[in-house]
Amino acid sequence: MPLLHKIAGIVVVCAVIIGLTLPGTRRGRDAGASAARSGATSPSTPAPSATRAPAPAMSTASAPPSSSAPPQPSPSASAEASAPIPPAAPGAVAVKADELGEVPVLMYHRIMKKPELSLDRSTKELRDELTRLAEEGYVPVTAAEFVAGRFDAVPAGRHPVVLTFDDSTPGQFGLDAQGGPAPDTAVAIIQDVARRYPGFRPVATFYLNEDLFLLGDRAAAGLAWLTRHGYEIGNHTVTHPDLSTMSRKRVQDEIGGIEDKIVSLTGAHATTFAYPFGAIPHKRAWAQRQDGRYDFQGVLLAGWKPSESPFDKDFDRFAITRVRSEGKIKENDCRTFCSTAWLDELDAHPERRYTSDGDPRAVTFPKSRERRLGKGYRAQARSY
Ligand SMILES: [Zn+2]
Repeated sequence: MPLLHKIAGIVVVCAVIIGLTLPGTRRGRDAGASAARSGATSPSTPAPSATRAPAPAMSTASAPPSSSAPPQPSPSASAEASAPIPPAAPGAVAVKADELGEVPVLMYHRIMKKPELSLDRSTKELRDELTRLAEEGYVPVTAAEFVAGRFDAVPAGRHPVVLTFDDSTPGQFGLDAQGGPAPDTAVAIIQDVARRYPGFRPVATFYLNEDLFLLGDRAAAGLAWLTRHGYEIGNHTVTHPDLSTMSRKRVQDEIGGIEDKIVSLTGAHATTFAYPFGAIPHKRAWAQRQDGRYDFQGVLLAGWKPSESPFDKDFDRFAITRVRSEGKIKENDCRTFCSTAWLDELDAHPERRYTSDGDPRAVTFPKSRERRLGKGYRAQARSY
């Protein structure tokens, strides 16, 4: 099948499935409503358990280096359950730190001068959205950093955001003659916004299919540029199938096939995976791990709401919700559930949003949030 037809097909099916999974009516965005709707988004996903302990962050070859370790869940969670939470640092209180607040994980597909299909965003729309994020104090972290609770790049008073790009299409990344990002690609735009807003860290996560941005024999050089500059390479299957209808072997061949390619090109494994179309296989475990081939620390769904903090008791790192990048258009209820609407909502209600305390070892939050603290994080907790 010609590549462009295939891309168009993927985008159309993406649009249909995301349309089906987005809620059809405006409803409250409180946790109760979210929990009630999660069944519609992921029918084969068990509801996140409130008592599930967060798994420790695991180091992988592709994990970015860090000057300090992120908060780690304590191995003796039950013994510490009644320990009093120490007071927050004055600087954290001053910026109203809340590390149990929500984090937008934005989902992009094709980036092009003139959008052709649903889910496409123009280069101008991407630039405008990134500029808005920079001006509102957001600092990008990769999906791998997010699932590991690694926020040392986010200063006190700022908010993490995760930028994710699916399907490795050429408008997202390419190489110019000098070996840098090709002009007008998403990466070039991210780099440019970061030059204009020095606090805006130029990183993002790319979920790859076999086309690899159409880099051809420059694929290894292109992926090397991305990882060398802090961008994350994620897994999105070889051919972008609907995994919900496939056998275990076919699921593992699709995920393992692109994983083998990623390892051969970069020398490192992917840390996170995104379901094509947000469609979940019969058993979630098939997509999370295959002995000796892949072992993900986080798995991302398709859309419709910001993620819980990784320190929240309801955070499920194998079912991370994302928000589709789109204006407040009528289609798919984007007036309420796409990125412009959600960024407006978080801007109007800063008490909902994750705000960093600037201390990578502490998890700071207002006392009213205490019941949301994930098991095992009490030793790092600070409240006010
Ligand atoms: Zn996709």
